[in-house]
Amino acid sequence: MHVLPKLAYAYNALEPFIDEQTMILHHDKHHQTYVDKLNEAVKGSAVESWPVEKLMADLDHVPESIRTAVRNHGGGVFNHNFFWTILKKDVPISSGIATAIDKDFGSFEKFKEQFTAAVLGQFGSGWAWLVLTKGKLEIVKTSNQDCPLSDGKKPLLCIDVWEHSYYLRYFNRRADYVDAWWNVVNWEQVEKNYELALKR
Ligand code: MN
Repeated sequence: MHVLPKLAYAYNALEPFIDEQTMILHHDKHHQTYVDKLNEAVKGSAVESWPVEKLMADLDHVPESIRTAVRNHGGGVFNHNFFWTILKKDVPISSGIATAIDKDFGSFEKFKEQFTAAVLGQFGSGWAWLVLTKGKLEIVKTSNQDCPLSDGKKPLLCIDVWEHSYYLRYFNRRADYVDAWWNVVNWEQVEKNYELALKR
């Protein structure tokens, strides 16, 4: 059974950048629905016991009759599980990931510009990610609930750009949401993700 993970912080911990009401609805309703629908999809199938990471990394081996449901709802589960962990206020960037960003993007400012452009350039619902691919940092976008694990990429950082993640506070202003989001990146967790991704 896939379960909804508890947040490691209070619903209002990311205020004023991400508001409490959005966090409650996003975690308790949207994320819970992905968990429920994933459980429904895999029930009684050959992949019922697979962890969500394996489902997403190995979609080709998920039975065809449930593959689309697993792609959508499994992606919804993994992406949100991951997203909550990389959010925290007032965490300075760590040296390992800062050095890698300077090396692969030229400077932090250039990285920030490119990442923000990816967020604003994602047409419709989806995600923007910082991933590690063959030892190199890369910015990728995914549509709907698609997940970089399915493309063999190792996620380090992500932002949810579905309207449900920002509409209550920012309405249609995705640019304001991404500006605010830079204040709640948990760089300590991103550093951990980076170190782990280098080892794998
Ligand atoms: Mn979401």
